[in-house]
Amino acid sequence: MAMRTCQKIKTTVNVLGKFSLRDFSGVKNLKMSKWQEEKDKFLGMSLENKRELYKSYTQLKDIPTWQEYAKKESLAKKIAAKLDFTMDDSLNETLREKISLFQGDITKLEVDAIVNAANSSLMGGGGVDGAIHRAAGPLLLEECKSLRGCETGDAKISGGYKLPAKYVIHTVGPRGEKPGLLQNCYKNSLKIMLDKKLKSIAFPCISTGIYGYPIEPAAHVAISEVRKHLESHADEVERVIFCVFLPEDERVYEGALQSYFPVK
Ligand code: ADP
Repeated sequence: MAMRTCQKIKTTVNVLGKFSLRDFSGVKNLKMSKWQEEKDKFLGMSLENKRELYKSYTQLKDIPTWQEYAKKESLAKKIAAKLDFTMDDSLNETLREKISLFQGDITKLEVDAIVNAANSSLMGGGGVDGAIHRAAGPLLLEECKSLRGCETGDAKISGGYKLPAKYVIHTVGPRGEKPGLLQNCYKNSLKIMLDKKLKSIAFPCISTGIYGYPIEPAAHVAISEVRKHLESHADEVERVIFCVFLPEDERVYEGALQSYFPVK
């Protein structure tokens, strides 16, 4: 009898030995965080119910494609492209319908994902980052805390909560003119879009505010990366929107877009 009790104790000790302290602290995490529950709730809502949450929004169908936009008489002068790849001109007609230039507040766009020009802490900030957090509500910050920051040029995805956009892709642009890092922001955001099978995305002019990247070279990086992506993934994309905030940035984008997405 004493032998059997002894054996039982030994077995219990062995079983317990297989768990580390971390496993037991993990039990606490089995309970879903509030942001996780709410994220699922927002993502599962019907469009009708979700629209009651946000006061004003712009639907994708109301954003003209670049093809439609370019009919404007007062289009800014073309700025020559800086191509580091060969453009397949046979795609021009299709691709002109897959992009848009929109001037206004990115937080109003009812698209699959908006991109946030975040900082590496992902804890919110000024500019477009602040606007996105304010419109999404405090649970966005809670989810961002769980993402554990983001390197410059990298990108991470979260829910959109009270935003008209389903998701937010947070990317961290470089401080100052560093084309390789800015390219990575666009590349990695588009990769997430592809992996998550999202069809529409809106980009702000990453790094061109507080981070001080001059608008014209930044526009070239943004537009050429999108063109490169669309050359091989046009079928997976419904729309890529370049969302500019300032009227003068819109003029720069108009000029650059004519080179990468030529219009007749
Ligand atoms: P960064 O630190 O990457 O420079 P900022 O937020 O300062 O980020 O600026 C990035 C760009 O976002 C700028 O072009 C700025 O004009 C623009 N911006 C600011 N607020 C909004 C908004 N609500 N919607 C769209 N773009 C915005």
